[in-house]
Amino acid sequence: MRPVLFLLLLAAGLATWAVRGGHIDVPPDWNPWAPLEIAAQPNWLTRHKLARLSDDPAMCNAVLSASTLAHASVPDNDAGEGCGWQTAVRVSDARFGPAFTLSCPAAVSLAMWDHHAVQPAARAHFGQGVARVEHLGSYACRNVRGAGGEGQRRSQHARANALDVAGFRLADGRRVRVLADWDGQGAEAAFLREVHGGACRFFQASLGPGYNAAHRDHFHLDRGAFRLCR
Ligand SMILES: [Zn+2]
Repeated sequence: MRPVLFLLLLAAGLATWAVRGGHIDVPPDWNPWAPLEIAAQPNWLTRHKLARLSDDPAMCNAVLSASTLAHASVPDNDAGEGCGWQTAVRVSDARFGPAFTLSCPAAVSLAMWDHHAVQPAARAHFGQGVARVEHLGSYACRNVRGAGGEGQRRSQHARANALDVAGFRLADGRRVRVLADWDGQGAEAAFLREVHGGACRFFQASLGPGYNAAHRDHFHLDRGAFRLCR
């Protein structure tokens, strides 16, 4: 082995040992091994920390438990034929409308999206927060909808790994709807485009009216394997 390569590997190994073992004090935000904090300012490690939650149910549950999201764990459910869920929670939070079952990683993404994208965008465009994210449901044992011969593939909804969001209710009661406001010119359209883009920072897929006609009235947000923002 070349000496330079050896020294580089040695330095990397030492740094890993020092950070992981707590021998060097690195702020949690900048420590790749520290658990994600939903309210912490996102940085370049956030996607790595989010991805890791999919393989670590205990860590995912710990992250949610440390958050303000009202939720409870639910038993795993193998419904057969590619349907059911693992490591899911029942979200029963007034900020997200009627209760629904969602995979833990998707619930973390949802809480981060609300905190870091939806609320700031609402304050910027309307001078007030969002009181409720209005959804169309999460779990459904079904295939992907829409054109393009995708109908043979199971939807992320079949694993409770996706949520469809139809609109938002502002603090003063005003409603912003994907169906009615996406194509507008005003603050509503600007807000919707901003939160649709913002969802790409925390979910794998964020699909809206720009994707296909099946999504003209909602945003599809999921934590599946494929990264797609349209
Ligand atoms: Zn969907």
